[in-house]
Formats: sequence, C-alpha cells, structure tokens
Amino acid sequence: MSSKIILPRVLQIGGGASSELGPIMIEMGLARPLIITDKIMVQLGYCDRIQESINKLNIFAEVFHDTVPEPTVSSIQNGVDKVKHGNYDCIIALGGGSPIDSAKAIAILGKYGGKMRNYKFPNIVDKPGLPIIAIPTTAGTGSEVTKVTVITDEKTGEKMMCMGMGFMPSVALVDYELSMSVPSRTTADTGIDAMTHAIEAYVSKKSSVYTDMQAISAMKLLGPNLRQVYQNPYDANAREKMMLGSTLAGIAFSNASVALVHGMSRPIGASYHVPHGLSNAMLLPTVTEYSIPGAPDRYADCARAIGAANYNDTSDVSINKLMDELVSLNRELQVPSLKEFGVDGNHFLTNLQTMAKQAISSGSPSNNPRVPDIEDIVGLYRKLW
Ligand code: NAD
Repeated sequence: MSSKIILPRVLQIGGGASSELGPIMIEMGLARPLIITDKIMVQLGYCDRIQESINKLNIFAEVFHDTVPEPTVSSIQNGVDKVKHGNYDCIIALGGGSPIDSAKAIAILGKYGGKMRNYKFPNIVDKPGLPIIAIPTTAGTGSEVTKVTVITDEKTGEKMMCMGMGFMPSVALVDYELSMSVPSRTTADTGIDAMTHAIEAYVSKKSSVYTDMQAISAMKLLGPNLRQVYQNPYDANAREKMMLGSTLAGIAFSNASVALVHGMSRPIGASYHVPHGLSNAMLLPTVTEYSIPGAPDRYADCARAIGAANYNDTSDVSINKLMDELVSLNRELQVPSLKEFGVDGNHFLTNLQTMAKQAISSGSPSNNPRVPDIEDIVGLYRKLW
C-alpha cells in the first residue's frame, strides 16, 4: 500500500530562516504580497522586520493585522474583502496558528468566494488558493506544513475543520528565533499541542511508515525540551528543538490525521473559548488512558520516544510511565482544570451531547485506535469534568 504525502514546495528551517523571505519570493516569481498577521506581531516589531527585509529587494507589502486567536468567520471577513479587491499574488502568513489558519481561509475565500461552511470537512478543498508563505511564531500547531485550517462558525458555535491541498502553504520559513518571545502559558499550551499532534499521528489508523518516522522524530525533540522552554524561555537550543519538533509533528498529523483528543478538543474551544493547545492538554491524559487498549505497543513507543520510558522497558511498564508523565506534565505546566479555567459546570454538563456530536462529525475520532461512539465521548467529557 502506498501513502500520499503532501508538503510545502520549500521549507527553510533554522535560526534566521525568516530573513530568506525576499530571496525565496524572487525565486518563486512572487512580488505583490499581503501580510496576514495579528496585532502582537506588529507590536513585537516582527511585521516591520519582515517588511524591511523584502523592501530591500523592492518588494512592498500591504498588511492585514486584524486576525484574532482561534479565528472566526467574521474575523476573517475584512481580509477576504481585501484579497477580493486587491491585486495580490501571494499571502505572507506571520504568527501562531491563528494568523496562519486565517490566511489559509482568506486565500481560498478571497479567490473563489462562497461561505467557509461550504469548505468544511467532509468536503475536501484541493483547488489552489493564493500561494501562502507561512512564518510560524509558536511551536505549535504545525499549520505552516499542514493541509488544514480551523475556523469557528460563531453562529453555530462550531470549530469547523477544513482540509485539502488548497490549504497547504507553498513555503514555510521555520525560524525558532521568532518563538523566543512567546509567553510561558502559550509556550506550554502550544508545546502540548505539538506533542499531541505527534502522539495522535503515531497512533492514528491512517499512519504510515513515513508519518511514523516524522512523529517519532517530533516526540524525541519535544519530549525532553517542553519543560525546559516553559522554565527557561530564552534557552535558544530548546526553542530550536521545539520549533522543529512542532513542524515535524505537523507533517506527521497532516498526512496521517489527528484523532480523538483533537476531535473532543475543538468543541470545548468553540463553546468555552479555551485556547486550542490548552484544551488538548486538559484532554490528553483522559483520552490517552481510554485509547491505550486500542494500540498498547504504539503508546509504549510514544513513551520511549518522549523519554518517559526506557527502550528496554516492557510495553506495560512503558504505558504506565506514559500515563504518569502526561499527568505530571500537566501539573508542572500548570494546566488548569475546566473548572479552574472558569467553565460553567451546569452549562458544560448540559452541552455534552452537542459537543460529542460535533466531535464525531469532525471525522477525527474515527481515526483513533479505539473508536468511540457518542456515549463514550459523553462519558469522557463527563470524566474530564
Ligand atoms: P495563536 O496563534 O492563537 O497565538 C496565541 C497568542 O500568542 C496570541 O495572542 C498571539 O499573538 C501570541 N503569540 C504568537 N506568537 C508569539 C510570539 N512569538 N511572541 C509573543 N506572542 C506570540 O496560538 P496557536 O496555538 O499557535 O494557534 C492556535 C490556532 O491554531 C487555533 O485556532 C487552532 O484551532 C489552530 N490549529 C491549526 C492547526 C492546523 O493544522 N491548521 C493545527 C492545530 C491548531
């Protein structure tokens, strides 16, 4: 059996990678960019820095800096209008997963029109939008190398998963130096998000030898460095490993898919505005415990790769060590419970069926090594509470 692997055309990886933007644009014949980013990137000076670097090559960009964390249909509308009426030949997406996902949606809606809802899974979007050059600043979502965008429909309260080659950036400039300024809470949340991508890609029913190799490499980079970047944000070596780990985890899950943690995480994010990485972190121990019987040896491999177990530990010992590690990681990274985060218990407990239906319809739970039905998911949400 063969596997279809979809990647950006160019990956530039390492310290200073973002300064290669101008030369790469020239190589690709791109000259009229729109930068899509958020206000923090402007405040940090990253947006100016990017503009100055391309101005030297006589390339001038307009900027849309109104993207919001966990983008919604209405938050991207002004960007869509700008692309419809502008004469851009590419988009530079600068920021965490939110600006990059916003850019992906804007690149398609700006070119083809229609409503975001028309593009959500199970529809697959393979037609190309405006080419995207993605510059991630969190480590992270891996969105710079994934054929996925996640946009919330604020009218229905659904985080819509949209997939297809059309959402794959043409270029990813993976420059860990831009992640040095990420605050500790976001460092923890995004780092656990990347770890979850790697674990879920590895245990996914759609994994392949190729994605296994990416996922294991990602876990080896992320496992030993996650606590380190949380405690020592200016450790450049650890930041570099986290950034590469996040990109490799993105390649792994984009080509193998995520599973139950992500399926259950999106509805929590949509209903209670819990940041994506944080809701993954809250769910990871509970969902892993549920899923282990479906692929015990694979979870044991994960335990060894992240450094929780030794290579001579048996599968049973490794799995126990994995569970201990996930629980202590959440404790050390101060991941709050839903209640501590401020979720209203009465609302949460009456919302279980709706969230479980949304989880199933995203398609992700069916890739899990142990496939749950709606009642299983309701039970897991209840257990999480
Ligand atoms: P984010 O982009 O929402 O950023 C979180 C906060 O950190 C923002 O306030 C942002 O301005 C700030 N920030 C980002 N980089 C910074 C830096 N270098 N220094 C200081 N502050 C910085 O967070 P995220 O976790 O990267 O992205 C989350 C979004 O990505 C969610 O909408 C989620 O659904 C989506 N996602 C997409 C994919 C995909 O494959 N497309 C995968 C996973 C998650």
